[in-house]
Formats: sequence, structure tokens, C-alpha cells
Amino acid sequence: MVSALDRWRTVLPAGRVRTAPAELARAATATFGWPRRITAILAPDAPEQVREILRIAQATRHPVYPYSRGCNWGLGSRLPAADDCALLDLSGMNRILHHDAELGTLTVEPGVHFAQAAAYLKAQRSPFYCSVTGGPAYGSLIGNALERGGGDGPLGDRAAHMAALEVMLAGGEVIHTGFDRYAQAGTARLSRTGVGPSLTELMAQSSFGVVTRATIWLAQRPATWRLVIATVASTATLGPALDAVRQLVQSQVLYPNAVTLWNSYKMRARDGHFPWEQAPRLPLDIGATEGAEPWYVSVTVEGATERIVEALMAEVQRLLEPCSLALDVLRDSELTPAERAPLEPGNPTGANVFSAYWRKKGALPALEDLDPDRDRCGVIWLCPSLPLLGATAAPVLAEIERRVRQHGLEPNIGLNPTSPRLLDVYVALMVDLALPGEDERAMACHHAVMKWLISQGHLPYRLGVQSFGLLPPPVDDSAAVMVRLKRAFDPLDVVSPGRYAA
Ligand SMILES: Cc1cc2nc3c(=O)[nH]c(=O)nc-3n(C[C@H](O)[C@H](O)[C@H](O)COP(=O)(O)OP(=O)(O)OC[C@H]3O[C@@H](n4cnc5c(N)ncnc54)[C@H](O)[C@@H]3O)c2cc1C
Repeated sequence: MVSALDRWRTVLPAGRVRTAPAELARAATATFGWPRRITAILAPDAPEQVREILRIAQATRHPVYPYSRGCNWGLGSRLPAADDCALLDLSGMNRILHHDAELGTLTVEPGVHFAQAAAYLKAQRSPFYCSVTGGPAYGSLIGNALERGGGDGPLGDRAAHMAALEVMLAGGEVIHTGFDRYAQAGTARLSRTGVGPSLTELMAQSSFGVVTRATIWLAQRPATWRLVIATVASTATLGPALDAVRQLVQSQVLYPNAVTLWNSYKMRARDGHFPWEQAPRLPLDIGATEGAEPWYVSVTVEGATERIVEALMAEVQRLLEPCSLALDVLRDSELTPAERAPLEPGNPTGANVFSAYWRKKGALPALEDLDPDRDRCGVIWLCPSLPLLGATAAPVLAEIERRVRQHGLEPNIGLNPTSPRLLDVYVALMVDLALPGEDERAMACHHAVMKWLISQGHLPYRLGVQSFGLLPPPVDDSAAVMVRLKRAFDPLDVVSPGRYAA
């Protein structure tokens, strides 16, 4: 019988079915140890090839695991949820297909990355920018949005601002979501839902198909902006600041993603240098060594005119000042171009990736060469969501910090309100994988803290290969319905088996 690998070789250009052991070993390397057998790497460069790959996958029952750029660091990188998958590396499909410079859309293939999109929009002198994450500049617009990643600006809920997906299903069927399924639909790129049940949302955090094209909505560049940094004394006093943030979002002075809250450990990790001289015994205790362990609330205030921004600023100051030790304001008009550039919305510097090197000793790679998988950086993300209520969230954050410290790790925590109701929390567990036992310690911490959070009703909004198995069983019939949905899209379970619910 002809194997899947042999059949894939007949539909892909030469050299695009890769099975060299060294290459497979590299692809199976993540920022935590997670043994996984991978059969091959398939690297198509056109949608029609993806369709053929999927037909063969179903005919031979050989599962595939698609990724767009594979930078899902801290959540499994390129690792499938099951053994014996062929990786479907879509990074070679990297064309920007369309830009609407009046309505603010960008239609792309999965390999298009944040730096590429930003350079393209700049070259086009577009009045729009693409929301970028605090993660890798070479991450995928589509891959990140499909994971419901978080970015900057008013369209920072990236999955909520993606439309007109082209999705290839196991067996080779093709669907287009929203109005894009109708010939010459004038609003295909402009509506997520179209008319009737919407398939767009079903493709995020799922295993139903392979997305080969999507339209990403863009935000208009603000005419003027301020960056406000409020310093809050400690986790114990964070509650009032969270309530002030909620009021600012509820009253629409700020859009939800305009606010980011980082604790001292997250702020410190950004430069990638653990202060070894201050921490003879791990973990580093910033409160003990420096006498204080503040949180930093970063707020972007933007608008069409100076008068609008000044009015919004007055409200931001009125609500944040009483709960802050200090309030620093940066005005775009007072910054030099060099100071302004890294702060401009839609500029993917990738500089936060230095934080993955926090516990590594020795020289850091250059910014454009950061690769936490290759450099054995230990990173595991833990992503619970909480109600945006100070009295509820602050004690949970204090308890996460306590439990992470118990495992000998620094509690590196960031927060983003994603609506006037909801707070997304991201905890980074960082170690040096080159040191014996550290990987196991970080994973034990991840599992213990996540189980505690779930026991308290604080469920995660994003999972990685390390956490798909930790969700509790649902209390209703949804698990069976999910299985039926999965079968409708992928009857033989050959696309990303085991990922998220299905
Ligand atoms: C220091 C640091 C900071 C970070 N900051 C952020 C942040 O601010 N916001 C954030 O969201 N993330 C952040 N991350 C996490 C992660 O690095 C990013 O989300 C990154 O964009 C994900 O990698 P990617 O874009 O290459 O997606 P991929 O790895 O390509 O995709 C992620 C997953 O989505 C699925 N998928 C991808 N493409 C397809 C497709 N075409 N069809 C079907 N399924 C697909 C696959 O299961 C894949 O594994 C951070 C990571 C680090 C280490």
C-alpha cells in the first residue's frame, strides 16, 4: 500500500515533505519538555496543495497538525496534542492578497507575520494599522487570531476582528465564512457573520479545519495619543485600580485593550536579565530586596483631536490618581521619532520576547534572532480569566503569586481587561531548561496553580498542549455536541486531533 508520505510527495514540490530526524527533532522542541512523535513536516506553498494534503490525510487516516508560523511559545510551540501527526507548516504561504485603504481590511495567507504586515502598511502609507501582540514580531496574523490572541489598540481582541475565512476541511472540502460564500458578495470582507449561523467563530481554538486565508480588520491610526503609567503600591492595593479601570471602560473613556497591568516581575523580566547578584536563593523577592513590589498600569488614551484627548485624560486622571502612587504621562507630540517609534500602535518590536530569557545566564541573542525553542528557554503560560472586579480579582492574584513562589519561581503576571466585565490574566512561568529539574518544577507549578484556579471557578481562556487535559468535564451535554460537530467537519479525526475540546 502507498503510504501517506509517498502520496504527499506526489502533490508537493520537491523537498517539501521533510523527514530528516534532526529537522523533526527541532520541530518537536518547545519551551517545556513534552515528548511527541512527529512523522513529517509538510510545507505547502499554495492553497490547492493544502487541499490535496487533506484529501490524502483522510484517505490514509494520517493526522496532520497545521500551524501558521509556529511561534506559539509557552503553549506548545509547534507540538500537536497527539502523537504521530505530520506537521502542516503554512509559513510558506505568505502573500498579502488585498488591502482596503478606505474601510481598513487586510486579506492575508497564514504565513504573513506581524512585521511583514506593518512594513506593508507603512509602504502603502495606509492610514490603518494591524493590532500587534506583545509577543513575537514574526508570529502569524492568522495563527494568533485563531488562538484568540491579544494585541494592542481597539481591535486587540484579534479573533473578534477577523472575517471571511477560507477553510479547508479533511477530505478536501472548502468553505468560506460569512458573506464570502456567495459569489461577488460586496461585503464579504466586512462582516464576520454574514447571514445565518456563523462558522467564523467555530474556527477559533478548534480543530475543525485548516485556515488558508482570512481578512483581518485594521484600526485607524490615532491622530494623537498619550501613554499614562500609573504605579500602584502592591497586589494588596490593586483592587481599587482594577475598579477604576472598569469604570473607565464601562463609560467608554477607554476601549478595553487600552489598559495593560504588569507586576514588578513582568516589568523586570522584559530586559531578559535575572539579577543573579540579588537572589542568592531562588526565587527573586523584589519586595524584600527593594522594599516595594508595585504594579504598573499602562493606559493609552487616543483620539481625533487634542481637545478630545485632553477631555478623556481628565477622566483618566480623576479615576486613577486616587489609587496610584504616581501617574506619569507621555505625550506623543513631545517625543522624538526614536522615542515614539516603539510606542506607536501597530509596531511589532518583538522586544518582550527577551523576557523568555529571564533565567538564562550569558549573552542574549540579537532582537531579530530570538528563538526561545532553540535556546532552551523555559516558558509556560497559564491564562485564567477573572471578573473585572477589584474585590474578586486582587485576592486571586495574590494567591497565584503565593503559590508560584512556593514552587521557587517568580510570579510574572500581566492583565488585560478584554471587556467592561472580563479580565484576562497571563502568568509566565520562566526557567532555564538547561538546568536539571527546572522543567519539571515549572510544569508541576503550572499544573498545581491551574488545578487550584479551576477548583475556584477561574477557568482558562487559552490552553496549550500542556493543559488541554486539565479542563474539567462540562456539566451539560456540550461535550457530546462538540464531538458531533467535530465529526461533521472532520469525520475521521485527522486534523489536529485532541486540540481543545474535540
Ligand atoms: C514573551 C512572550 C510574550 C507573548 N505575548 C503575547 C501576546 O501579547 N499576545 C498573544 O496573543 N500571545 C503572546 N505570546 C504567545 C505566542 O508567542 C503568540 O500568541 C504567537 O503569535 C503565536 O504564534 P503564531 O502566531 O506563530 O501562531 P501559530 O503557532 O502558527 O498558531 C497557533 C496555533 O493555532 C492553530 N493554527 C495556527 N494556524 C492555523 C491555521 N492556518 N489553520 C488551523 N489552525 C491553525 C494551531 O493549533 C497552532 O498551534 C507571547 C509569547 C511569549 C514567549
